[in-house]
Amino acid sequence: MDHQSALNEIWQNIQPAIGRGKVASYIPELASVSPNHFGMAVVGLDGRVAMVGDACTRFSIQSISKLFALVMALRSEGDSLWQRVGREPSGTPFNSLIQLESEQGKPRNPFINAGALVVTDILCSRHLNPEMALVEFLRKLSDEPTIEYNLAVSQSERATCDRNAAMAHFIRSFGNLHNPVEQVLDTYCRHCAVEMSCVELARAVSFLAHHGRNPWSDEVLLTQSLAKRINALMLTCGTYDSAGDFAFRVGLPAKSGVGGGIVALIPNECGICVWSPALEESGNSHAGSLALEMFTSLTGRSVF
Ligand code: GLN
Repeated sequence: MDHQSALNEIWQNIQPAIGRGKVASYIPELASVSPNHFGMAVVGLDGRVAMVGDACTRFSIQSISKLFALVMALRSEGDSLWQRVGREPSGTPFNSLIQLESEQGKPRNPFINAGALVVTDILCSRHLNPEMALVEFLRKLSDEPTIEYNLAVSQSERATCDRNAAMAHFIRSFGNLHNPVEQVLDTYCRHCAVEMSCVELARAVSFLAHHGRNPWSDEVLLTQSLAKRINALMLTCGTYDSAGDFAFRVGLPAKSGVGGGIVALIPNECGICVWSPALEESGNSHAGSLALEMFTSLTGRSVF
């Protein structure tokens, strides 16, 4: 079945699942987003775009930013990054502090908050204006110069991010954060507050389906080996504490955010993004996860 036919069928069947779950409310500015949105886009490596529902509406990418921040940090640090961040699933919620003490401030992986704070610290060391460096990277990947972060969302998270602040101070006490905590948190909250649509994100992630090369310009963004490793990390750690269940049900490398977005990809074929703000307990979009499961079932595609 082709991508657009699969999306049309998903649209028919997903309706009862839309709005089931809870919109993230611990970031006050996100609590007012309607749970009833649903959008999905698939961008093929041949440039063809399939979409359905609210696929062109921008939403808060939240932890999906961790994927692109990691790509930027790996581009500058290469494999030395792994001295500061691990690559094992954590088996704990994305904002947990529990392993940091026994593991001396080295976060389990770059997709939990602790790991993303270390990655953000690296970007702070490498760029004069690290929040805009990420925005510019996303503009380039999606070929969309109007991408921005939402100031109200970043300020709302920044004013209430005590838990991430505790984590950052703790990591710094082990010497694994080099810049001032305040600067790292400002940057982190702005990265999370970037707004993009499903079409823009599906396009932005497609280089990971193309061995690290931009499918349209052929620019090498990551070596083939690093691109493969990021895909492995997405599969094992990209959907919080449900990564095992997600791999079982969907079978694709993916990264989710509490704004309700999930990006995924099929190697050599396409980038995918789905958005529906109501989340299941682990923080993944309920309808979004289900839609991706339907997509791989309908098309018969997976990485296995
Ligand atoms: N900004 C959110 C936080 O730090 C991102 C979390 C997420 O999307 N899982 O809590």
